[in-house]
Amino acid sequence: MRVDYLIVGAGFTGATLAERLAAAGKRVLVVDRRDHIGGNAYDETDPHGVLVHRYGPHIFHTNSKKVFDYLSRFTEWRPYYHRVRAVVEGKKVPLPFSLATLRALFSPRLADRLEEKLIARFGYGARVPILRLREEEDPDLRFLADYVYKNVFEGYTLKQWGLRPEELSPSVTARVPVLVSHDTRYFQDAYQAMPKEGYTALFRRMLAHPNIKLLLQTDWKEVEGEVKFAHLIFTGPLDEFFGYLHGPLPYRSLRFRMELHPGPWAQEVGTVNYPNEHPYTRVTEFKHLTGQDYLPHSTLCYEYPEAYTPGKNEPYYPVPREENEERYRLYLEEAKKLKGVYFAGRLGDYRYYNMDQAVARALKLFEEIAHG
Ligand code: FAD
Repeated sequence: MRVDYLIVGAGFTGATLAERLAAAGKRVLVVDRRDHIGGNAYDETDPHGVLVHRYGPHIFHTNSKKVFDYLSRFTEWRPYYHRVRAVVEGKKVPLPFSLATLRALFSPRLADRLEEKLIARFGYGARVPILRLREEEDPDLRFLADYVYKNVFEGYTLKQWGLRPEELSPSVTARVPVLVSHDTRYFQDAYQAMPKEGYTALFRRMLAHPNIKLLLQTDWKEVEGEVKFAHLIFTGPLDEFFGYLHGPLPYRSLRFRMELHPGPWAQEVGTVNYPNEHPYTRVTEFKHLTGQDYLPHSTLCYEYPEAYTPGKNEPYYPVPREENEERYRLYLEEAKKLKGVYFAGRLGDYRYYNMDQAVARALKLFEEIAHG
């Protein structure tokens, strides 16, 4: 077989590049070692008729009109605002920690005072990273910062990463803000919606172009010598590509436990976080995400963070620490020596990307390739 582009990985990065290149008249072969398309965003109907996400709950949100318009060619959308609660001191309170959370946890007097100070200091609508709030001198704001840090953030981070917050790059802690607002939505992005028929249906349409051939259950090593290709786009793990030449790039993995709930609903919102108790970090009820209100039962997903061991479980989250970044740069130097080979995506770039960021990165790489 002879193709213009061999693309390794049929997740958002690989599928976007395959679709764009095929539409530009290139012959593309996509290989994925899994038995399905969609990468980590893959969804499927479980034995009880509930649409579930095999690799953990995926909620689509973006501020990019370009990405939203692009994906809208392959799916209709179901409007969905994700809401999350955290169990803190036995109460289920809104997350991100917001002005609404103050009201749920503290006396009206204390909540009023904290609200006033937060608005005066940061402005209504601000997202204040928890580590930033800890730098404040005002005793009330310090109290709040320490409270959030201890009750919402510290235990969750330890469970999620197996590391203390200080051992991680500030980019991780920046993802945990105090929101100076009464908005109880988990995301504030301009576009928030779920693909109406699910992610897998979206991927099927992306990959339906006659210029695209697809081989599943096929590791790229199996086709390397068999297929003639002018260019290679690799969205698998960068360290694996180079035979772990500079040592493994650390990842955190997860185990998912799906559980049938006999009644129509198990929890009042899509996700409940457990920062301080249980070995799992959060529980998601898929029906909130998919809108299958008509089903008399429900499926829950429990997430258990665990260490990543190549060949044993999946590499989910790159561990953002400076020493890992240095190792990544060594691999990047190796990558630059290769002609006609591009690395992209969550594993190829060793970056935490949300789905929209993976698509944006792929669209940008396509522009670079197309314009030489
Ligand atoms: P992937 O989806 O990982 O695809 C890479 C593909 O390459 C895989 O299918 C893999 O099998 C294949 N592959 C790798 N190596 C080889 C090889 N050697 N040969 C053949 N095939 C190979 N994003 C959001 O926007 N919202 C969310 O709510 C959200 N929730 C998430 C929850 C979890 C638990 C996780 C782990 C991620 C979440 N994400 C979320 C992020 C989202 O999963 C990624 O943005 C997206 O999957 C990135 O796509 P990708 O194509 O770069 O990588």
